[in-house]
Amino acid sequence: MKRTLIKETPQLVGQTVTLKGWVNVRRDHGKIVFIDLRDRTGLVQVVLVPELAKDFHTEDVIAITGIVKQRPEKLVNPNIETGTIEVEAKETELFSKAAELPFDMGKETLEVELPTLLDYRSLTLRHPKVQAIFKVQAVVIDAFRKALQAKDFLEFQAPSIISAVPEGGAEVFRVKYFDHEAYLSQSPQLYKSLLVTAFERVFSVNHIYRAEPSVTTRHLTESTSLDAEFGFIESWEEVQEMEEYVVRFIFDEVNSRCAKELALYNATIPLISEKIPVIKLRDAQEIIFQRTGRDVRAEKDLAPEDEREICAWAKEEKDSDLVFVSHFLTKKKPFYVHPDPADPTYAYSVDLLCRGVEWSSGGQRLSDYQTIVNNVHEWGLSEKGIALYLQAFKYGSPRLGGFALGAERITMHILGLKNIREATMFPRDMERIDVRLSTLE
Ligand code: ATP
Ligand code: MG
Repeated sequence: MKRTLIKETPQLVGQTVTLKGWVNVRRDHGKIVFIDLRDRTGLVQVVLVPELAKDFHTEDVIAITGIVKQRPEKLVNPNIETGTIEVEAKETELFSKAAELPFDMGKETLEVELPTLLDYRSLTLRHPKVQAIFKVQAVVIDAFRKALQAKDFLEFQAPSIISAVPEGGAEVFRVKYFDHEAYLSQSPQLYKSLLVTAFERVFSVNHIYRAEPSVTTRHLTESTSLDAEFGFIESWEEVQEMEEYVVRFIFDEVNSRCAKELALYNATIPLISEKIPVIKLRDAQEIIFQRTGRDVRAEKDLAPEDEREICAWAKEEKDSDLVFVSHFLTKKKPFYVHPDPADPTYAYSVDLLCRGVEWSSGGQRLSDYQTIVNNVHEWGLSEKGIALYLQAFKYGSPRLGGFALGAERITMHILGLKNIREATMFPRDMERIDVRLSTLE
């Protein structure tokens, strides 16, 4: 019989259907057995006689043919979308038996520690609440794409293997490349900028690789970067405004398409005021000093606790979970950053912070060929490795800028997850490439 999807069952009262999926939970009540069956569209309660329920247990893959029945009012389950009905089984079939489970998969929240969650990833990715994370992430990425397509940006694929390291070498993975040495790309920055000189407006969704040397709750060694870059800007503020548009677009899409997933996490979309506040680094540091007495006013960057404090300020004073911080120190930024002519010590750079953590970096880039070449030398880099990038500007470029958002950080903070690894299907860090590296030795 043709398969019916679980979400369609409430509309099929009185009809005979065949459902296919996984046993989510089994409850034995003497003469009857209840099985919550799960497929990609949801959960439904099935009522069976013990002969039909056989020894089915959690994660067995089965088919059930039965009649869809309306539940009496007092037995309606408001927590699931099919809660108004149940299916009375007439026939069952086993497709595949699951081994005994290492932990209880039937609970609404999976009660396992992070290492176990990841050690058993093939299994834990089946849990509805775990799946919700990746449904939200897919919408975040899809919304990023849609937002930029609507503004006439072209999607491109950035290469991962690169021949030189434009942003400093400390956090880079080296790869043996035939007889040469190559690197895994830390960012598609140079490609997206050079593509602006050809296509005007580009974006990409791709992996970036960073040999992050410490274990934190917000760093992965392989993460998903949402990059955008565009030309003919009038000022760096235009970059920040485009990013604000994209972030609002993402929030709207998640809000309208992920109500169920947000509810599972008791999550609300970050509060966004009419206009996201924008403050300069030095002003942010002054605010931190005023609020906490911690004097960070001469620091070259924001430390994690500074990011948390400035987010707390934005929330309390500006009614916003998001805040832009601009004008970082030119010398602390890569060679292509555009200095502010009013005071070249500071750059036209802008980070977006949300719920205590950096979500993105961006800004206006240099577009004058000679200035770029001078900076390459001043930053102690070699022209050779970035020849294609330099070539783009040698032959003319509009004024340009862009930004890069981290997809996992956005997902993590929308859902209030404690660790970025939870927002990554297959996280890589110092200790893990799917399996714990220490177990390979
Ligand atoms: P941080 O200071 O938080 O380490 P960063 O300034 O090194 O971040 P950028 O180079 O500005 O990061 O990268 C742009 C965005 O990409 C970041 O704001 C973040 O959202 C994301 N990102 C960067 N590195 C990582 C990483 N190792 N793991 C997860 N996301 C990352
Ligand atoms: Mg940054």
